[in-house]
Amino acid sequence: MRRVTVFGATGSVGAQALDLIGRATDEYEVVALTGASNIEALAREAIRLRASLAVTADEGRLGDLRDALAGSGVEAAAGRAALLEAADRPADWTLSGIVGAAGLEPGLRALRHGGTLALANKESLVCAGPLMRAEAARHGATILPVDSEHSAIFQALVGEDPAAIEKVTITASGGGLRDWPLDALADAMPEQAGTHPNWDMGQRITIDSASMFNKAMELIEAHALFDLPADRIATVIHPQSIVHALVQFADGGIIAHMGAPDMRHAIGYALHWPDRRPLPVERIDLARIGRLDFHEPDPDRYPAIALAYRVIARGGLAGAAFNAAKEAALDLFMARDIRFTDMARVVESVMDAMDPRLEAAGITLDMVHDIDAQAREVARGTIGGHPWT
Ligand code: NDP
Ligand code: MG
Repeated sequence: MRRVTVFGATGSVGAQALDLIGRATDEYEVVALTGASNIEALAREAIRLRASLAVTADEGRLGDLRDALAGSGVEAAAGRAALLEAADRPADWTLSGIVGAAGLEPGLRALRHGGTLALANKESLVCAGPLMRAEAARHGATILPVDSEHSAIFQALVGEDPAAIEKVTITASGGGLRDWPLDALADAMPEQAGTHPNWDMGQRITIDSASMFNKAMELIEAHALFDLPADRIATVIHPQSIVHALVQFADGGIIAHMGAPDMRHAIGYALHWPDRRPLPVERIDLARIGRLDFHEPDPDRYPAIALAYRVIARGGLAGAAFNAAKEAALDLFMARDIRFTDMARVVESVMDAMDPRLEAAGITLDMVHDIDAQAREVARGTIGGHPWT
């Protein structure tokens, strides 16, 4: 029996992982499932998969969780400390599926077991890529990317010499507002930006797809995972979301990874790696799709992309500041305190203001937490007195 833990079990990625695990319950022993606000789903899944422990990150919901689990034999716990305690319970395979920087520490702790960390939480790598990699190396743990583009790169690199990589390109759908006139973007409402043409994902990443802050995060993620310099990492708009990434090698050959836009492919690949097993995802028919389009992202429409290259060039704590500023800007947009197009302006203002504080030879968790808190405060401060509010 393989011991598995799923962080963010009530989310979009988490639920899809549980769908796969639930199809072969005799193979898995579920150590812990975690969620936050969705107590009903957390309890239901913990009971269904006979988890030993269910944790809600929300301390105030312990009573609700206990009630929902009454008589099931599943242990209930709540709060940040309980979340970290869940990470300390040995597991062979852990999915890091919490959204936001809140996912960093549980993932880091899980690496100590020396097993596999299936990493959907890209924020971990954006905030603290070198720290994650060092912790994995210290404990002999394996980080497998779950983000579809990075899983695609990883799969294209099997059996290849990383030194022969010339360039890696990750594709972007362009998000839910890609066909809007540029001057209409400022008026986009959260529910409009929160609709995706191809992927069914959590609300935050869907809005980040419309702004391409998601792709900006993924460029930094590719840099952190595959040791690639900025000039070897690119993105291209590909509206069909069939090709997920392309790796070009020194001989000019390109290996592209294709598949239906279904996260269960990338999650399933990480679950069964190094094997490939049948997965319940749609098989694509290229003749029916007919054409695959690619074009350069317009820098005026997607200012987040230039910010990502700035973060990669800056190094140190720039990723932690960038991620926190982006999360804070997204909170402000979702609360309707700023407009869609203001998010990039807020993040850029934060990066400018924080720049002298971003130098760091080695990153520690305390440093990341400190910069994260500062960047959120600076981000919230930018909305007072600005002409765009
Ligand atoms: P969702 O918003 O759907 O789910 C987030 C999960 O995290 C939920 O289980 C939620 O609990 C939990 N959570 C939220 N806040 C906290 C907190 N402060 N502490 C602990 N747990 C918390 O997100 P997604 O599944 O879309 O995304 C998860 C991660 O995977 C993100 O990093 C995202 O960028 C990445 N990713 C997602 C993809 C997708 O297809 N969705 C694709 C590629 C990457 P609850 O719902 O109970 O409140
Ligand atoms: Mg992705």
